[in-house]
Amino acid sequence: MDKKKIFICGISTECCSYSTLIQNENDFEILSGKKLLKYIDFNYSKYKNITFISSKFYHSLPGGPVDKNFFLNTIQNITDDLKKHTSIDGLLFLMHGAMYVKGISDPEGFFIKKIRSKVSKNCKISLSYDLHGQMTDSIIKNIDYFAAYKTAPHIDVKQTYSRSLKMLIDGILKNKKNHIIWEKIPVLVSGEMSSTIVEPCKKIYKNLNIFNKLNGINDCNLLIGYVWADTKRATASAIVNCTDVNIGKRICKKIALSYWNNRFNLVYDMKSYKLNKIFHVVNKKRFTILADSGDNPTAGGVGNRIDVLEYVFKNKIENTLFAGIYNEEIFRELKNKKNKIVIKDSISKKKISISIDKFYLKNDNAIVISNNNTVIFTKYRKPFHYLSDFRELNINLKNYKILIVKSGYLSPELKKLKADNFMILTDGFVTQDFKRIKNLFREKPIYPFQKNFRYNIAI
Ligand SMILES: [Zn+2]
Repeated sequence: MDKKKIFICGISTECCSYSTLIQNENDFEILSGKKLLKYIDFNYSKYKNITFISSKFYHSLPGGPVDKNFFLNTIQNITDDLKKHTSIDGLLFLMHGAMYVKGISDPEGFFIKKIRSKVSKNCKISLSYDLHGQMTDSIIKNIDYFAAYKTAPHIDVKQTYSRSLKMLIDGILKNKKNHIIWEKIPVLVSGEMSSTIVEPCKKIYKNLNIFNKLNGINDCNLLIGYVWADTKRATASAIVNCTDVNIGKRICKKIALSYWNNRFNLVYDMKSYKLNKIFHVVNKKRFTILADSGDNPTAGGVGNRIDVLEYVFKNKIENTLFAGIYNEEIFRELKNKKNKIVIKDSISKKKISISIDKFYLKNDNAIVISNNNTVIFTKYRKPFHYLSDFRELNINLKNYKILIVKSGYLSPELKKLKADNFMILTDGFVTQDFKRIKNLFREKPIYPFQKNFRYNIAI
């Protein structure tokens, strides 16, 4: 028997449509060849009669809109790779699902349709997604299998790749038929309100695994969607892979309703306060982590805002560690070896000046000590989610009373520290104050933007 061929490619990012930061080739890392196969971390050797062809996987930290020319080039580059091979049996797409490209209303759908048009009609397509992604009819029409993360914070990324690849392999080798059923759910909240480690999503996602055991069901999914993109397709959705369409439809509606019926229970899993209140509730005797949520780079924020820094210095709060603030200019300022630096925020136009008691540079970070506080400035946008991020900079968290991170819900490693933790409801492109975000293109009605309406879905 001839070996079957599976071609792997994708583009993955989450784009805040309000951000002025445009993403291009400088923001994306490209994984290809053996590196990409290793990253997917699949048991390839089990399938001796399949050749896995690794093309390109473009991925970036969430940010602003993706530059249209760059986006079109990624499709061209992958198409060029595809041309080197004949008779492809399967395509695996690794995508996030919340990309925003000005002028293209459904970038993932556009991407999939373009690549699909280059292979034969018999080629099967599997799509792997983030649960903060968006689904559309165009995507459903052009794929045969679908799998999304079932955890937020995301700790099942590799398992999701395996689920989507395994369904594709079964489809190719055993010719197993699969139908995809989907339902839009008119709910759109932030990741902070829909974490799967707390209720109600903990139970809703657990139920997906129970539904998976039913005869006729292959793989059930629930997408929360992405709230910081003002697009027509932005909504939550239930997506079911099934062999029995009737059972699939019933379970899909059941999942959709379980999310809808819990919409009023979708709340932050951390206590949240505005900036002018937060430091009054912090217990000064305990180590506390504060999440500057409106400027969270992992949701698409820029990561450069200085509102919290300004508040801390103005109010003479000490023993805090800021991790971190994206600001390239500081590196030039520090070269002048002055005893003061001016920190400017190019977007909000705010600026403050702080004295420098000491500073050092490490791995594209500038660690500045000022008035008993430590501020990490980063040359590139980056989150501080791992304890190793601090160790690498010779920073011991035990030396501080307050850690301020640019984040929404805390990463699993920071959460494990068992510190007091709060979310600060700050301004920024990914503010949690939805009343303040533009809402021109989203479908109406959608909760929580509209509240009094019925969801017409019957099982
Ligand atoms: Zn996500």
